[in-house]
Amino acid sequence: MTNDLSLRNLTKRFGDFVAVDNINLDVPTGSFFSILGPSGCGKTTLLRMVAGFEAPTSGTIAIRGNDMANVLPNKRPVNLVFQHLALFPMMTVAENIAFGLNRRGVKGQEAHKRTEAILERVGLPDFGAKRIQQLSGGQKQRVAIARCLVLEPSVLLLDEPLGALDLKLREQMKVELKKLQAKVGTTFIYITHDQSEALVMSDRVAVMNRGAFEQVGTPQELYGNPATPFVARFVGDNNRWAGSVTECSGDAVVLQTDEGYTFRARAMHDCAAGRRVNLFLRPEAMLVEPADTKGMNVFTVTLRAILFDGANSRLLTVTEQGHELLVRLPQNRVIENLEAGRQLTVGWNPDSGICFAAGADDVFVHDAEGAA
Ligand code: ATP
Repeated sequence: MTNDLSLRNLTKRFGDFVAVDNINLDVPTGSFFSILGPSGCGKTTLLRMVAGFEAPTSGTIAIRGNDMANVLPNKRPVNLVFQHLALFPMMTVAENIAFGLNRRGVKGQEAHKRTEAILERVGLPDFGAKRIQQLSGGQKQRVAIARCLVLEPSVLLLDEPLGALDLKLREQMKVELKKLQAKVGTTFIYITHDQSEALVMSDRVAVMNRGAFEQVGTPQELYGNPATPFVARFVGDNNRWAGSVTECSGDAVVLQTDEGYTFRARAMHDCAAGRRVNLFLRPEAMLVEPADTKGMNVFTVTLRAILFDGANSRLLTVTEQGHELLVRLPQNRVIENLEAGRQLTVGWNPDSGICFAAGADDVFVHDAEGAA
C-alpha cells in the first residue's frame, strides 16, 4: 500500500501556544480521510502546513514520498477547496475551471478538452457556458471541486467545504462527495467539526483534540470502540454515568453508579476495584421493554417526551433518581401506549456500555448528551 501523505512529528507553535502537537499520520493513496475535531483544535493549521501556507515548527511532510520542506505552495501536488468557494462570479463555469490550467501553461484546445472531461466527471456536462450566478449551491460546490481536480493533484484538501450550505443540500452533498471521490480516485483530506460528515464519507477518520490526534480509525471503530472519553463524546450521542468499580475480570467490569445502580459493562482501560470510572452508553443500545432480559442491565424509567426524527424516535426518559436518559428507538419497533408519563423497562447488554477511568478534567456527574 502506498501513501499519498505522510506526516512525521509535525508540530506548529504560535509563540508558546502549540496548535499542532507532534502529529504522525499516513494517508493511503486513493482514500477519503477526514480530520474531525472541535473549533480551534488545529485542523486548519494542519491543512495549511500540508498546502504550504504555513511552515511547520518541526517535523516533516511528504507527499507521495517527496519531502515538501523546500517546495513552495504553488509547486505542491495538492489543491485546497475552501468553505467559501472563491469562484470568480463574472466568469463562466468553463473559464473558472480553465483558469488554473491557463496559469500552468495549458491553453486552447487542450485546456478545453480537460475542462469538458472534468465537468463530465463531476456530473455537470453542458454546464461550461453557464455563469456562476446561474448555479445552485451544490452545483457551485462541484465546480469548485472540478476546478481543483482538473489540475490533477495527488491530494485534494477540503476545508469544511459544506459549511455554508443549508442542511438538506449538505446531506445530499455528503453522498455526492463520497461518490465523486470513489469515481475519480484522488485522495481527499477533509476537515470538519461535523461528526456526521466525517462518519458518512470517510474511509478513515482522525479525531483531533488540542492539537493532537486522539484516535485514528474507521468510522465503525471510532463509534464502536472509542479509544478515549473525548472520542466517545465527540462521535455520536451518549448516556453517561459516573461510578466506582466493584469487581473486574479482564475487560468485564461491575460498577456501582453514584445513583446506586449496579451495572456490568466493558472496561476500556485497566479497571481496578475502587477506581472511579465514567460509563458511556449509546442511546440505541438501550432496549425498551425487551422480551428477554437475561444477562442484561435492567431498570425502570419514566417517559417524558418522544421526539420523532424520521427514521427513529428519541425517547427522553428519566430514572427513578430524576436523571435524564436518552433512548433511540427505530421506527419499526412499535411499543403499545407509548405516551409521556408511562413507566418503561429498559435493558442493555453489558457489551454495549464502555467504561473509562475518570480523568481530572471530567466535569460531569450524570447526563444524557445530544438530548436537545
Ligand atoms: P476552526 O474549526 O474554528 O476553523 P481549527 O480546528 O481549524 O478551528 P485552527 O484554525 O487550526 O483551528 O487554530 C488552532 C489554534 O491555533 C487556535 O487556538 C487559533 O487561535 C490558533 N492560531 C491559528 N493561527 C494562528 C496564528 N497565525 N497566530 C496565532 N495563533 C493562531
